[in-house]
Amino acid sequence: MKIGVIGAGYVGLITSVCLADRGYAVQCWDSDERKISLLSSGKSPIFEESLEPLLKKNIGKNFSVENVSKMPGKLKDFDVVFVCVGTPSRQDGSVDLTQIYSAADSIAMGLKSLGGGKRILIVVKSTVIPGTTEELKRYLEKKTGLKSGGDFGIAMSPEFLREGLAVKDFFYPDRMVFGVEEKKDYALLSSLFAFVKCPMMETDLKTAEMIKYASNAFLATKISFINEIGNLGKKLGIDAYEVAKGMGLDSRIGPKFLEAGIGFGGSCFPKDVKALVAKFKQEKISAAVLESVMAINEKQPLLLVEVACRREGSFKGKAVGVLGLAFKAGTDDMRESRAIPIVNALVSEGAKVIAFDPEATDNARKIFGSKINYASNAKDVISKCDFIFVLTAWPEFKEDIYGSKHVYDGRRILPGKSGGNYEGICW
Ligand code: NAD
Repeated sequence: MKIGVIGAGYVGLITSVCLADRGYAVQCWDSDERKISLLSSGKSPIFEESLEPLLKKNIGKNFSVENVSKMPGKLKDFDVVFVCVGTPSRQDGSVDLTQIYSAADSIAMGLKSLGGGKRILIVVKSTVIPGTTEELKRYLEKKTGLKSGGDFGIAMSPEFLREGLAVKDFFYPDRMVFGVEEKKDYALLSSLFAFVKCPMMETDLKTAEMIKYASNAFLATKISFINEIGNLGKKLGIDAYEVAKGMGLDSRIGPKFLEAGIGFGGSCFPKDVKALVAKFKQEKISAAVLESVMAINEKQPLLLVEVACRREGSFKGKAVGVLGLAFKAGTDDMRESRAIPIVNALVSEGAKVIAFDPEATDNARKIFGSKINYASNAKDVISKCDFIFVLTAWPEFKEDIYGSKHVYDGRRILPGKSGGNYEGICW
């Protein structure tokens, strides 16, 4: 079986390289020449645990990558094509499908030249709002004059990987969801992933799309919920982590995603919750829970700055250290990182920010430029600053490196510390 993948970002690259490693011949297409040349030389454009060794092992063998402009002429060689392009937020929070339709144009060109000679299964893996895959199908039919079902198949299989654990999640997912229109496409996809041992669920296209949004929205809700409880707890002298531990022992609740702190970031939760809220609005249905989830998440990082300002007075002219810029440990991704509003607030307070992140400094430079200074390790930050904000839970920040510095912990990275020079946000 020959596999094509459109988009060499987190999802496309993990899908490509991991399927190649399982013995499939995989061709990945992207529009970004910088990524293509990096990948072709065996270098990963993103930091993701165990990805680069797998890439090096498979590049030029089972896996290759080239410009998407070359795809239409070659489509006939493929059995399954995964669409893994980005679906960012528009200004109003709704999902921007520009990359999806640009990929669809390339697919349509390829299908049209094939003229229905071979049935290729197009699988949307990007996160798209319910109804999108069906619209995409109609778009392809209109552009090619072909009929889905006979001439090509369409499916929707949401991706649930977590950045930082993406390779592991690919091989050991909790479940796989295949939204299909025909039984044979479910059979094809479940046999393609037969090496994965997990529950597999067959649904229609819309349900598969909604499972992804509902999952992310639910996890985001857990985080905002415990943050809200934690904000009250902080006033009352109650530790949100003790509360979460007590709650999590209830098997109906579970302990995960009850880690109070400065809120959620990343490329998925904020954008997906906003997109779902926009869909509620479009359908004129109240999204009270999810709107509150986002509102709490917007305020949460700034509460840490408030806590610090209450204790220290003004930071004007003071050197303030920031440890951790990535939206979470294990990645260099800074999309929607909660470090962004905190660093911006500290800079507007007049602080001289010196920051360090083990992986995300290059991406941080694109966001903050010369507004802040960058250190090459945590100890350097601590030696230069009296006030330290810990914003990402990298394991190396857990060590006892802070001495007598005033620490403002947004991730509960130093659970043993409390009182004195240490302050948390919800504890
Ligand atoms: P990304 O931005 O990292 O990657 C998208 C890639 O697509 C880029 O390399 C871009 O150059 C390429 N691209 C854009 N238009 C193209 C086109 N017309 N032809 C070929 N290539 C094109 O995005 P990502 O983080 O991999 O996310 C992809 C999708 O998967 C999104 O819908 C996202 O919500 C979803 N998702 C992401 C994650 C995650 O952790 N990152 C997890 C689950 C689901």
